[in-house]
Amino acid sequence: METTQELTAEQPAPRKRNPRPVKLPEGFQGMDISDDVLRAIGRMGFDMPTEIQKKTIPLMMGGSDIIGIAPTGTGKTLAFGIPMLEYMDLQETELQELVLAPTRELAMQIGEELQKLAYYIKGIRIAVLYGGQPIKRQIEQLKKRPQIVVATPGRMLDHLERGNVRVDRVHTLVLDEADEMLDMGFVKDVCKIIDQTPPNRQFVMFSATTSQDVMTISWKYQYEPTQVTVEAVDENKPQITQYIIPAERQEKQDRLLYLLDADVYERVMIFTDTKLMAHRVNAALQKNGFDSEELHGDIPQKKRSEIMRRYKQGKFPILVCTDVAARGIDVDDVEAVINYDLPNENEYYLHRIGRTGRAHKHGVAFTLMTYSESVRMDAILKYMKSEPTPLRFDEAGILRYEDGKAFFEHI
Ligand code: ADP
Ligand code: MG
Repeated sequence: METTQELTAEQPAPRKRNPRPVKLPEGFQGMDISDDVLRAIGRMGFDMPTEIQKKTIPLMMGGSDIIGIAPTGTGKTLAFGIPMLEYMDLQETELQELVLAPTRELAMQIGEELQKLAYYIKGIRIAVLYGGQPIKRQIEQLKKRPQIVVATPGRMLDHLERGNVRVDRVHTLVLDEADEMLDMGFVKDVCKIIDQTPPNRQFVMFSATTSQDVMTISWKYQYEPTQVTVEAVDENKPQITQYIIPAERQEKQDRLLYLLDADVYERVMIFTDTKLMAHRVNAALQKNGFDSEELHGDIPQKKRSEIMRRYKQGKFPILVCTDVAARGIDVDDVEAVINYDLPNENEYYLHRIGRTGRAHKHGVAFTLMTYSESVRMDAILKYMKSEPTPLRFDEAGILRYEDGKAFFEHI
């Protein structure tokens, strides 16, 4: 007679999970990173830490407060994400680690990156909180007791004030893109949040620049911070070839269509100065049969997230956006950036063209420049310390190098 126990014993062994072995990333060995996280890094396809990761990870693991200054695309998310996961106590039910980011898109992106990094860590709960999403759904997420929260300051404060979450047990606080966040007028909110964290928590800040506000927050809240700076030089510098094309305002649309008609670039980001212009350019592209979308502050948040997700997945090739909407967004494989207008701030130029040429791939950036924009352009180039290649359209409307050679041989 069979007993239930015997029945159970006779069942086949469960299939092994993760049968595919993951190569451990060699460059990350010896940094005291746990096997689970190492395997996840390998699974993400990385082998060597970037410079900011090399410098930040040991410092952060050692408990220091850090102010990390590094240009976009240098791998800051993993620089703080890896130590964050190493610190976690999975048994603990209070919120342990908090990351603040300036925009919803960025918060979502950090959340996704942390989730990938935590692929092999069972029982980890990461909540992402931002405005524009029903607060009720976020409350549900918070009820599940996440160990990690990634949030925009406004929404975080909202939850704190409603008592949905507490930060008094947080041991690691990260401000990502601190300069941008403080520029956007979040200083007060950020301070109110930091004030509620324990005084002995570790406080790590990342920023593209050392702005006055960043330094003030550091001085007020960091304890003997170590400054880590990574310059945009050589191997860190994305491989981007920059071109300037003179074009008067009424010509810009045609010039843009010419660049896209060349059918050379599969993924393109087009930057405009205003929401209205982004809308107009996108409408013109769609009218001309291009598969494009627009991303700016007038698009409802839900739609923005969806557009961003689809663009990242390569579902459509052309994105027209404003600076704020695109800030910090990491999309791989953008082949060309086109500046339809010049940005108002020098730094935005760097952020814009930094969307391409990532991860050692080669990218191109075109700037369509009216005569009156040339003064602004000079200021930008002085800031960039770079010299783009000048191109021009001839009378027949063919784009050429200065020596007369056609830019696109096939047109
Ligand atoms: P930042 O915050 O400095 O702008 P991100 O953290 O968004 O940079 O990383 C930029 C890109 O580089 C992302 O696609 C990321 O997945 C990739 N990346 C991060 N670390 C590494 C690494 N060690 N090796 C190769 N690529 C990496
Ligand atoms: Mg970043």
